[in-house]
Amino acid sequence: MKILVINAGSSSLKYQLLDMDDESVIAKGNCDRIGIGGHIKHTTFDGKKIDEDADFPTHTEAFEKLVEVLTTGDAAVISSMDEISAVGHRVVQGAELFNKTTLATDDVIQKIDDLSELAPVHNHPHALALRACRKVISESTPQVVVFDTAFHQTMPEKAFMYGFPYECYEKYHVRKYGFHGTSHRFVSQALADAMGKDIKDLKIVSCHLGNGSSITAVEHGKSIDTSMGFTPLDGVLMGTRCGAVDASAVTYLEKKLGLDPNAMSDYMNKKSGLLGVSGVSNDHRDVLEAAQAGNERAALADSMLQYEVKKYIGSYAAAMNGLDAVLFTGGIGENSDDFRAGVCHDMEYLGIKFDDNANKGVRGKLTKISAPDSKVEVWIVPTNEELLIARDTKALVEAMK
Ligand code: ADP
Repeated sequence: MKILVINAGSSSLKYQLLDMDDESVIAKGNCDRIGIGGHIKHTTFDGKKIDEDADFPTHTEAFEKLVEVLTTGDAAVISSMDEISAVGHRVVQGAELFNKTTLATDDVIQKIDDLSELAPVHNHPHALALRACRKVISESTPQVVVFDTAFHQTMPEKAFMYGFPYECYEKYHVRKYGFHGTSHRFVSQALADAMGKDIKDLKIVSCHLGNGSSITAVEHGKSIDTSMGFTPLDGVLMGTRCGAVDASAVTYLEKKLGLDPNAMSDYMNKKSGLLGVSGVSNDHRDVLEAAQAGNERAALADSMLQYEVKKYIGSYAAAMNGLDAVLFTGGIGENSDDFRAGVCHDMEYLGIKFDDNANKGVRGKLTKISAPDSKVEVWIVPTNEELLIARDTKALVEAMK
């Protein structure tokens, strides 16, 4: 069975075509610059590449191009779109309406669009892509939506509520939703498999650290708390996001900097975090390089992030009344040995005995990095959100038969 996975943004359409018989990637790429020009990058499993400008006034033309490169020309990998059994879409915000992977009917697509107020950058483009996909690819091909928030819908009220007046939740749906749920679900299950344990017997802290970062407490396979909140701005310092701050500092800075709410939102989402503190870059590699060359603010940004991650691990161990494993994933978590070591050193009181040798130099590979006699296991677990979306999509269409 072949499944097409789509991750659509306002100006891009990332895709992967997977063969679910062996879960291999047949082709992948990105239709970029939608609405402002158009460009496609496409790579096939056997190394054929397309890298060219195109004309993408809307997502519809991007889908038409995708169909063209998949089915015709040198880099074609299928003879017709009929070979594709279903399309799985990543959707950022499902709020309380969606707690699991769902078939994208007209009504569901409309609800995703209606949630745009809660996720302005993401949900409307998702709805545009879903409608465009339906227009271009046969209506008889099922489309499935997998929500970043769905995994966190198991959080108890005491974890997801904010201390605002209760009506803010009732009237405006202001609460913690959490994000990266697809990744946290994938890696926590992969970790349980690697440990040879049933996930229902485990208390895991999952650290997804990339450009956007979030930490999740996964107790017996369920998310019971997570660091991102109402939006992905909450939690730890990120590439360009400030993470959790005192809300009064926000209103104070709005006045001091003369920013309206939209400009303040941009300031917190795009100019802060590693970039804002270091003054060097939003990219962790650049920050580390600058720190090693003696840049103190870069070193400070890195140590702030390490410290925040360490505190989340401790607090989630307290929330779960125990801890069996910590996992690192995402670009920073999978690749930066120094970062992992910085977080896990001096955590013996929690039962973490880190293995520096096992950790050193490991990048993007499923690896245990705690000592054999460590009470709490520590692992690197590469994430693969596209694969989980494809697996969910396959399971849903098979259940429909
Ligand atoms: P996104 O959240 O956009 O999916 P990724 O998960 O790809 O991002 O993570 C990107 C981050 O991972 C960047 O900050 C990048 O610098 C960082 N990263 C990748 N490789 C390394 C490395 N070897 N050392 C430190 N950071 C790294």
